[in-house]
Amino acid sequence: MMFRFFGSDIFRGSVYGRGHPLNIARVWPVIDICRALGWLAADEYQQIAPATPKELHLFHTPDYVAALLEAEKQQELSAAQMQRHRIGLDNNPIFPQVYSRPATAAAASMRGAKALLSGEAQIVFNPSGGTHHGMPDRANGFCFVNDPALAILSLLRGGAGRVAYIDIDAHHADGVEAHLSGLPQVRLWSVHEENRWPRTGKAGDVGQGNARNYTLARGADDTALLKIINQHIVPEVSEFGPEFIILQAGCDGLADDPQSGLCYSNRGYWQAVEQILALKTPSMILGGGGYNPYSTARAWAGIWGLIKGKNPYQTKANADVQKILSSLEWQHRRAQNRPARWTEQLFDETG
Ligand SMILES: [Zn+2]
Repeated sequence: MMFRFFGSDIFRGSVYGRGHPLNIARVWPVIDICRALGWLAADEYQQIAPATPKELHLFHTPDYVAALLEAEKQQELSAAQMQRHRIGLDNNPIFPQVYSRPATAAAASMRGAKALLSGEAQIVFNPSGGTHHGMPDRANGFCFVNDPALAILSLLRGGAGRVAYIDIDAHHADGVEAHLSGLPQVRLWSVHEENRWPRTGKAGDVGQGNARNYTLARGADDTALLKIINQHIVPEVSEFGPEFIILQAGCDGLADDPQSGLCYSNRGYWQAVEQILALKTPSMILGGGGYNPYSTARAWAGIWGLIKGKNPYQTKANADVQKILSSLEWQHRRAQNRPARWTEQLFDETG
């Protein structure tokens, strides 16, 4: 089995701006923790350059991509462009890498699709991806580019006949569902918190026909998540028999995350990911939501551990990992009394 981890140094520097929920370190701590644990071999890691505008046209409109490029260059847009494309509005800020950062995440997902199609790798991991709210002509929900949609379309362009998209983020995958759930080669499954933004994806909704939505009430825990995964999603995906699986593994459903009312532990979250890996299908695992830097870094480093056959459920932080976790900054009231598990071990407490 070959595995690939796609990343870039662009995720070390750029920020979304003061006060934004994404103004936290999310990707580089995962890379550094995996290296510090000895889980990431040099030949498994691949540095990615931003996608070209033309590559993004596979899902996004040329006008929108041009506006993103202009926003990056000028650091401002006309009022008309802002209104139409929602760039610089709605918590989708104009920041120095507003084109290149999302275009890098998108390139990683498109490169991942290529690696799966060619058989170069059986599992690919792109924690910078999973920006499932992006729309063809506008930014939406902190997402400028929809890399899961670009990954699905890349697989189809490469000849895939059956692609399963599974999304365990706390929020509904509205951008992916609205535009790809009518394609005959694609099936989508999303499990998310009910009555939470963007408020689409009601239980039983099928989108353009091929989406399946499952909702969980505020306070839902590991048992509730795993019930939906094991009793509904896994059997339905198995019946579909996909050639490829894309798993959006946003971790904002964790109890430690401030952006949802869901209460998963990372042990339940990892078990959900394991159930998908157990389908033994060439798969791409993406990041997504994750707004507590400590829980996000630990959750996603644990996913790479699972991919590699390691045991994150019992992994304590060695001195290097403790140093990485302790260095993370978070301007949030929840960080004032930092629980020991956030810096001393990958796994949450056992229940
Ligand atoms: Zn989310």
